[in-house]
Amino acid sequence: MTEKIRNTVIMGSGCAGLTAAIYSARANLQPLVIEGHEPGGQLSLTTLVENFPGFPEGIQGPELIENMRRQAARFGAEFLTAHVAAADLSRRPFVLKTNSGEIGTRSLIIASGASARWLGLPNEQALIGHGVSSCATCDGFFFSGKEIVVVGGGDSAMEEALFLTRFATKVTMIHRRDQFRASKIMLDRARKHEKIHFLTNTVVEDVYDPSSKEVTGLKLRDLKTAAVRDFPTSALFLGIGHTPNAAMFDGQLETDADGYLKTRDYVFTGVPGVYACGDVADRRYRQAISAAGTGCMAAIEVEKFLEELEK
Ligand code: NAP
Repeated sequence: MTEKIRNTVIMGSGCAGLTAAIYSARANLQPLVIEGHEPGGQLSLTTLVENFPGFPEGIQGPELIENMRRQAARFGAEFLTAHVAAADLSRRPFVLKTNSGEIGTRSLIIASGASARWLGLPNEQALIGHGVSSCATCDGFFFSGKEIVVVGGGDSAMEEALFLTRFATKVTMIHRRDQFRASKIMLDRARKHEKIHFLTNTVVEDVYDPSSKEVTGLKLRDLKTAAVRDFPTSALFLGIGHTPNAAMFDGQLETDADGYLKTRDYVFTGVPGVYACGDVADRRYRQAISAAGTGCMAAIEVEKFLEELEK
């Protein structure tokens, strides 16, 4: 284990983690932020954020994250490019096993977020990075002048589809129902867009063609008629939600059926000194502003917890 025992470690560098870092750094706790697999979290993969208070014209997600990071660093937060593979919360100080060694800490803020979900199609994994993607902002550019499919019926799928119209000649949205979870404003925008077409009550059963290392089409099933057909496309983008990143706490912290960490009073886990904030513990709101809010709460609770420890 590294010789220095930390006051607090923050797992994750998205909106929740960085807000926790700003608050705990300003409380002189010198937090260590372990940046994780997806530094900056979901905001760093998005484009214009229009609903974060304080930015009347909106702000680009990566810029908002970079501002938060600089704000945390200014007050003494430290950053480590690593991810936590396992944790031992039965010992004190807690021990985190990272790919950069073990870290001991008196308290822990879990802000590890949630990662994009995949469909589990037979050929899907082989084509990730070759036309199958969960990040329109990362990969959309590669499909300029091509036809693209987006799967999903929530805000993420609408956002992806709207973004992809910058590059694609046509975007087909495939959704398994004919009701949408997306907010009305996003759904209306997508519906009104001349390049976006909808295919509802339809599921993707496979993606072609791994042998040519590119996406050439999809196998679709119409859920009303059960008819199966091929559908040519150059890319498959998924906007079907996220899975919480909490597997390293299996058996140590309570989760719901989908793996979201359970909390009481917003941020308390079942282990004193361990707090959870942001999307890893929030299947209901999942907004940048609510993640930031719970990040703030977790940092304030850490401060109180450490004060009690010293008494
Ligand atoms: P979501 O609201 O959970 O929507 C996921 C969509 O994917 C649903 O339509 C779901 O279909 C579909 N889906 C899930 N698994 C599937 C599968 N195996 N096969 C086919 N379809 C599948 O997730 P989200 O869109 O990522 O949004 C999450 C939260 O972030 C929401 O609160 C949203 O408002 C927010 N958000 C906001 C913005 C914005 O305001 N700009 C942008 C992105 C996200 P069913 O409906 O049939 O379950």
